[in-house]
Amino acid sequence: MSTLFWNARIWDGARGFSPGQLQVDEGVFVQPGGQAHQEIDLEGAYVLPGLWDSHLHLLLLARSLGQVDLSNCRDQFELLSRLERAEGEWVEGFGWNESHWDNPDLPQLEQLDRACDGRPCWLTRSDLHSGLTNSEGLRRAGITSDTPEPAGGRIACNAFGQPTGVLADLAMHLIQRVIAVPDRSRLKRLLVQACAGLHRYGIVGVCDQRIKDQDDGPLAWELYQEMRLPLRIHCNRAAHEDLRQGPRFLEGDDWLRCGHVKFFADGSLGSRTARMRECYQATGERGLWLTEPDQLKQGFAHAHALGFPVSVHAIGDEAVGAVCRLLPVHPLDRIEHLQILDQNDLVQLGPASAVASMQPLHLLDDRTQADALLGERAHGYYRLASLQHRGVRLAFGSDAPVASFDPWLGLQAACLRRRGACEEAWYADECLSREAGLWAYTRGASESLGWKRSGLLLPGWLGDFCVLDRNPLECPWPSEVSVLRTVVGGKTQFSL
Ligand SMILES: [Zn+2]
Repeated sequence: MSTLFWNARIWDGARGFSPGQLQVDEGVFVQPGGQAHQEIDLEGAYVLPGLWDSHLHLLLLARSLGQVDLSNCRDQFELLSRLERAEGEWVEGFGWNESHWDNPDLPQLEQLDRACDGRPCWLTRSDLHSGLTNSEGLRRAGITSDTPEPAGGRIACNAFGQPTGVLADLAMHLIQRVIAVPDRSRLKRLLVQACAGLHRYGIVGVCDQRIKDQDDGPLAWELYQEMRLPLRIHCNRAAHEDLRQGPRFLEGDDWLRCGHVKFFADGSLGSRTARMRECYQATGERGLWLTEPDQLKQGFAHAHALGFPVSVHAIGDEAVGAVCRLLPVHPLDRIEHLQILDQNDLVQLGPASAVASMQPLHLLDDRTQADALLGERAHGYYRLASLQHRGVRLAFGSDAPVASFDPWLGLQAACLRRRGACEEAWYADECLSREAGLWAYTRGASESLGWKRSGLLLPGWLGDFCVLDRNPLECPWPSEVSVLRTVVGGKTQFSL
């Protein structure tokens, strides 16, 4: 089956678009002009290679779609009112963030009990680092004022020593282990929904990341193998898995491949656990190592010896600096986030450095907090233009469900460093060029994952592309771009 897509303006991978056509046969691009069974008029629209999201959590994203959406709540009352519509034995919600509320007070246990009509609840904060439960949830998890805090976790208590329902980091497992994981058929339905959502934005491929201390890697691999989603999936493994068992690096086919080994050097900026060289402003703390540099070094050596590149979460400047000195060993080694970069480390980087896998939308979400916690050092936050000038390979993603997977919002964050006209750019000297931003969402991303024939519109390459209503290099606000059509392996998976 051969399809010709004609009357298009096609991106040349660098400076611009020129009139042309594309032909896909058996899922891959061929030289246009041969016999076609079907012809589709693209009406002069703009065509890019299909986009990649180089850092998201696909299984968590799918699960979040089955939960009450608590993002963009303006206060606790709005949060409570949304819970009343919830179905199920547990009321599960996702995405609240009190730091965006005028009044950051969280609801009390009794208020949550009433809103959930006596059912237990578990409401995960947008950063996945804490959650909120109610009296019934505490009861089912067996959490009382006598429960000891697990290492690396926090059970928040009031002045009388009673749990408030807020559980942070590794204390979240106390609840998570008593909530049933949705059954496979429900998970599969949610994954199909997540995949359709990605197609709406022109995304054709993802790198599925692991979460610290969660063993969902083998389940993810199994589900993706059974489902054969119309999405290119690079499925990472966790550092604590037995890497000698299970799939090897890039094992699989053009739909599903086994990915990098994921490590965590430090925590996050919002919870002040990102590891810094100097203390956060107004606190005497420098953050944490989740894995000490010596242990990282050993872990990397083990993964490399088995043929895996590594993918390392590093956010604070000390963690980023340490990982930059240890990598790359494998040419596809990646640093995830690379949020705060010290000038002395920046000047050591270049085209042969580890890939910088970054999620530009975090820059707008973290802006206020970074200024407050870092002062002048916030200039080191997401130094995109500096990295580009030094020739460091960039790969962009979203971190969904932690942030929106809309790559057009992400492109805007990278290139304009502001949400809209009412806001000033944040460190405008670090704005990235549009061309470099698009590259980081297309070939920059797929190349960093080791996918050989994905991310360019060339004969012999995977027949994936997206069709846009306007020129993303020239429109004032990239977030205004609408995707008209997303084609994966020659088949239209979304059209407006
Ligand atoms: Zn992540």
